[in-house]
Amino acid sequence: MDHITLSAPAKINLYLEVTGLRADGYHNVDNVMHTCPLHDIIHVALIAGKDITLHCTGASLPEDHRNLAYRAAELFLKHTGLAGQRAGVSITIEKHIPVAAGLAGGSTDAAAVLKALNELYDTHLPLKTLCDLGAQLGADVPFCILGGAALASGIGTEMIPLPPMPPCRIEIVPGRIPVSTPQAFAALDRLTAKTGREIRTGGGKAIADALQTGDLRMICSCLYNAFELVNPEAEAVKQRLIRRGAIGALLSGSGPTVYGIFPL
Ligand code: ATP
Repeated sequence: MDHITLSAPAKINLYLEVTGLRADGYHNVDNVMHTCPLHDIIHVALIAGKDITLHCTGASLPEDHRNLAYRAAELFLKHTGLAGQRAGVSITIEKHIPVAAGLAGGSTDAAAVLKALNELYDTHLPLKTLCDLGAQLGADVPFCILGGAALASGIGTEMIPLPPMPPCRIEIVPGRIPVSTPQAFAALDRLTAKTGREIRTGGGKAIADALQTGDLRMICSCLYNAFELVNPEAEAVKQRLIRRGAIGALLSGSGPTVYGIFPL
């Protein structure tokens, strides 16, 4: 096999609280993530030559080391000692996930490249190793490697798998203005310092318990995202979704995407 095509799904957050800023600049989180149907398509091929080439359709994104999928290939080749030894790597991203939207679009592309290269090179790296490599690229990459649903703590890379949402329809409403994740974290840090807001505890566990019961209304009653505190535009979008029959609605990640959960 010299090429592979993978679906790279976006994620939504069912719960997201920033529990603290660490000395190394990372944030600790209480975070429940869930794979959603929106996805990019990633083609990875081993080709003649020694370089990594990347092409992206559907969005204007850098096609060099600034692209997280490119960096995933570099990291994989370095870790396995394959850099410069075997065929080059060609990556094509068909971008469907909105960029800088709180849907982990870059992280899921990187995760797909790590999985694809592990197959193509027959390297059989265990999932744990792929996740450790992924964590070097971004806190959401390990979740994107595993998929499904998970309760994440630490900087978001320590995960407990959870059962998926019961049957429902999830509607994604992309925002108009992209949000820079570092800037959103900084805004929330400033708000926390200024107001001394009470940081929630145990909310991720509550959603985890609700997922175990499979009760969609209970899950919806526990939805929370602290980034809504610094994204006041989300409320009107949520209210529109609720008026249209959503039984829960929330900002995803650092925004600006809002999603609604509809019963089937
Ligand atoms: P997260 O929810 O993990 O914070 P996000 O969905 O808010 O991520 P991304 O779509 O991953 O944000 O984009 C964040 C930045 O990463 C953008 O500025 C974009 O230029 C850059 N980037 C690099 N590679 C990619 C990629 N393959 N897909 C999307 N964005 C990428």
